[in-house]
Amino acid sequence: MKYANSILELIGDTPLVKLGPLAEGLAPTILVKVEYLNPGGSSKDRIASRIIDAAEAEGKLKPGGTIVEPTSGNTGIGLALVAQQRGYRCVFVLPDKVGEEKRNVLRAYGAEVVVTPTSVAPDSPESYYSVSDRLAREIPGAFKPDQYSNPNGPLSHYETTGPEIWRDTEGRVTHFVAGVGTGGTISGVGRYLKEVSEGRVQIIGADPEGSVYSGGSGRPYLVEGVGEDFWPSAYDGSVVDRIIASSDAESFDITRRLAREEGLLVGGSSGLAVSAALKLAADLGPDDIVVVLLPDGGRGYLGKVFNDKWMQSYGFIQLSTEKTVGDVLK
Ligand code: PMP
Repeated sequence: MKYANSILELIGDTPLVKLGPLAEGLAPTILVKVEYLNPGGSSKDRIASRIIDAAEAEGKLKPGGTIVEPTSGNTGIGLALVAQQRGYRCVFVLPDKVGEEKRNVLRAYGAEVVVTPTSVAPDSPESYYSVSDRLAREIPGAFKPDQYSNPNGPLSHYETTGPEIWRDTEGRVTHFVAGVGTGGTISGVGRYLKEVSEGRVQIIGADPEGSVYSGGSGRPYLVEGVGEDFWPSAYDGSVVDRIIASSDAESFDITRRLAREEGLLVGGSSGLAVSAALKLAADLGPDDIVVVLLPDGGRGYLGKVFNDKWMQSYGFIQLSTEKTVGDVLK
């Protein structure tokens, strides 16, 4: 019989898919790595698993322990999934701007959610950083993973994502493109591919215009999960050859085209990464093989990038594509 002993065994080993219509007219082969096929729906399952393994090995997490982290997104889902399978309690601290749907996903996996006001300064005792620090200090047996500084985040990509890309391209990958948030993905995959190829593989970060990685100061942009207004220690710039910035409009346009033309319903940071890869590919040749990491799926963004009214309200599209029966029968 073929089965997994736990859903955790199914983390990683995600497939590469060749881009079709979106890569038309471009010389290189562009392959996307589909991370939404992880059990929790994103690449963050990988870091959650490695971070919890390491915390257990280092004695930071003991039976009955509690994981406390300020996170609203994919990292929370990954941590909640691994934690429940290992018998840990999970408490996530979220700002009140995080929508009900996202809170409910975390609760569905059995996590507890503490909501904090957005409209307070980061150093206020009510801020989401302060509240999570306090809970981590005061809950007995609490462990705070801190994905921005935990070396096991990049390490998980060094040990799994990087080797999978090298294996599946039979060592022929020439360029790797990923969006940069904490920097864990690009740093871990980048270090592995640089080492194994003796520096031959080029590592390219995709960044939302305005974020620090492309020289900005963190001006608000709408693509989620990528870009920062500070330099996290999980980011290792020494393995990154180039940063390519894209606007929200470019990222969202590509995100929608990935769903419509490639059958890949993915989030806006995937559109950002593919947008950077397309700009890069314009200068490459037919022997180049570009691998682009798509971090998560699009279901979590149906109210935003896939909502015509939302897109229209920011001026990203002109007309709503909502049709009446009459339009369709015409
Ligand atoms: N895309 C999404 C949707 C994410 O949640 C993240 C993680 N913040 C990233 C991209 C960036 O990955 P990393 O933190 O490894 O740089």
